[in-house]
Amino acid sequence: MKPTILLHGGAGSMKKMGDVRAKRYRQSLRDAAALGMTMLSGGSSALDAVEASVVHMEDSGAFNAGLGSCLTAGGCIEMDAAVMDGAQRLFGGVAAVPGVANPVRLARLVAETTPHCLLAGEGAAALARQHGLVFRVDFPSQERLDEWRKKKQRLEASADNDLSSRLAAMGGVLGASEEDRVVDAEPPVDGSQEGDGSEPQQRGDVDLGHDTVGAVALDASGHVAAAVSTGGLWLKLPGRVGDSPLPGAGLWADDDVGAAVATGTGESILRALLSKEVVDRLNEGPEAATRAGIAAVEERFGVGQAGVIAIHRDGRVGFSFHTRGMGRALWRLGMEEPAAAIWPDEPWDRPVTAPSL
Ligand code: ASP
Repeated sequence: MKPTILLHGGAGSMKKMGDVRAKRYRQSLRDAAALGMTMLSGGSSALDAVEASVVHMEDSGAFNAGLGSCLTAGGCIEMDAAVMDGAQRLFGGVAAVPGVANPVRLARLVAETTPHCLLAGEGAAALARQHGLVFRVDFPSQERLDEWRKKKQRLEASADNDLSSRLAAMGGVLGASEEDRVVDAEPPVDGSQEGDGSEPQQRGDVDLGHDTVGAVALDASGHVAAAVSTGGLWLKLPGRVGDSPLPGAGLWADDDVGAAVATGTGESILRALLSKEVVDRLNEGPEAATRAGIAAVEERFGVGQAGVIAIHRDGRVGFSFHTRGMGRALWRLGMEEPAAAIWPDEPWDRPVTAPSL
C-alpha cells in the first residue's frame, strides 16, 4: 500500500485570490501535505498524519481555520473541527469552540479521552484546558478583525435587514445568489491584484469564507482517516454550527471503502450528508463518487455550494467542486514533492504517481 495524503484548503468563490495570496495558499497546502507525508512514510497512522496536516494549516493563518478563522456577526471566533479514523470508526468533534489554537487536536481528545463524540462551546474549551492545549492570545488576528469590519459594513449597507436573507442573497447560506452564479461562470482571475476590500459595494461581493481545511489519508497498514477544521462562515450567527464537525456531513472514514471531507456552505452540505454520500459511492471510483456527491448538492441547493475530496482504500483519489476554486494538494509515496492546484481543470503542478493497485 502506498501511503497517500490529499488535502484541501476550502472551496469558494475566491474572488480575491490574486497572485500573492495564491502563492502563499499553494505553499501552505504543499507544506501541510509534506508534513503529513513525512509522518506516513515514517510509519505514522493515517489519523496522526491528517491531524498533523490540519494543525499545520490551522497555525498558518492562510486558511479559515485556527489562526485564520473568520468571525461571527458579533466579532468572535467560534470554530468547528472533527477527526474520524476508518479503522474503528473512532469519531471526535468540537463545535463552536472559542480560543483554542488547534481545534482538531481537541476533536481528537474528545474521541480518545471522553465517552462522547461531540462537545460544544465552553464544555469543549474546558476539555482543552484540562489537557493543557494552547489557547491563543492573538485571537482574532488584526488581519481578520479588519476584514470583519469591512464585511460587516457592507452587510449593514445592504438593503435587506434580515441576516439570513442577506447571507442567502450573497450565496453564503441556502443557495447561491444570482451574482455568484455570474461570478462563478467567469474564468478565474489568477493574475488579478489582491483585493483591498475597498471595491464598490455589491451584494455578491462579500466572500463568506470557505477556506476551511480538510485532509484524508491512507497509511502503510491500509487504514484511512479524515480530519477537518474551520472557523465556519463569515458573520454567522453566534452559536451556529456547520457541517464540519458532523459525521457523514463534513467527513466520513471507513476502512472498508475509504474517506471523504467536504467544504463549502455547511447548511447545504449537512442536509445532503455529502461525505457519507461520497464514501458510499467510492467503489464507483473516487472521481465519479465526488462528482456524484457535488451533483446531488447542486440538484437540491443550487450552484456554488461545495467541494469534496476523497480517497479510496486502494489509494486512488478524487475531488470535485462547483465553486470557482478549491485549493488542494496531493502527495503519494514515490512522488518527489507534493502537487497542488486551485482552479477547475487545472492540472496538478507536479508529476503525480499512480497508486499501487
Ligand atoms: N463548511 C464550512 C461551514 O459551513 C465552511 C467551509 O467549508 O469553508 O462551516
